[in-house]
Amino acid sequence: MIRSNPHTHSDYVDGKSPARETVERALKLGFESLGFSEHAYQPGIDSFCGLSFENREKYLNEIRGLQREYAGKIRIWVGLEIDRVSPETGEGLDYFIGASHYFTDEDGRYAAIDGDPDALESYVSTRFGGDWNRAIKRYFDDYAAAIERQKPTLIAHFDLIRKNNTKRHWFDEDALLEPGKAAMRRMIACCDLMEINTGGMVRSGQLSPYPTLDLLKYWRSLGGKVTVSSDCHNSLLLDGAFGEAEKLMRLAGYGEYTVLGTGESLLETRRLV
Ligand SMILES: [Zn+2]
Ligand SMILES: [Zn+2]
Repeated sequence: MIRSNPHTHSDYVDGKSPARETVERALKLGFESLGFSEHAYQPGIDSFCGLSFENREKYLNEIRGLQREYAGKIRIWVGLEIDRVSPETGEGLDYFIGASHYFTDEDGRYAAIDGDPDALESYVSTRFGGDWNRAIKRYFDDYAAAIERQKPTLIAHFDLIRKNNTKRHWFDEDALLEPGKAAMRRMIACCDLMEINTGGMVRSGQLSPYPTLDLLKYWRSLGGKVTVSSDCHNSLLLDGAFGEAEKLMRLAGYGEYTVLGTGESLLETRRLV
């Protein structure tokens, strides 16, 4: 039923598929719109996980070219996924996604939330004395501050910190609730759209999309809107687990969802039928 994806990577950074291949896949699936959101330039912290300074222009030109070429067949939007550590401002884009993938501290040390679990565990042990409740609070506090500053079009994988916990069981997922809710209350003042992200289900064996049902229910109670994304890194998985996202929306009580528009408006609403 969902025929759009606002969170799509390409082969400029860590995606497997060239952008054109994903556009062709979207057409086959009968998509009405498609948004590209390559990882933005992030010098200093895992710089290879973001666009190089030189490739920013090249990427934007390629997607703009596809946008023109496929006009009338599918509406393509030009965006970036901007981590809170990136200096990218979003200038010249149609939209952007606000994300948080790292713990950072003043002396330049950092750890990827969704990277090597041993490195993350060791960071939490050193920086937070192994106290995951403190680490979780810090993750959400940092993320909320970033959304307040960035004011993105949409919020990415809200509780990405669950990713490695699925195998390691560092904390009980209930530990996410209070700090997660506090972050949502701050974020919604600056951005009222959050993605239901199935990328973790498709790529790393998560049992449910980000965010959890309880957090999603809370987001709805605040008046928050949702859109569905596969965080696509491979064109064959462009609509991966969209059925699960649909189920989650219904369970959370949503009757409608947001998609990237088909014409001039960036965002449009669809009824959940
Ligand atoms: Zn991400
Ligand atoms: Zn992504």
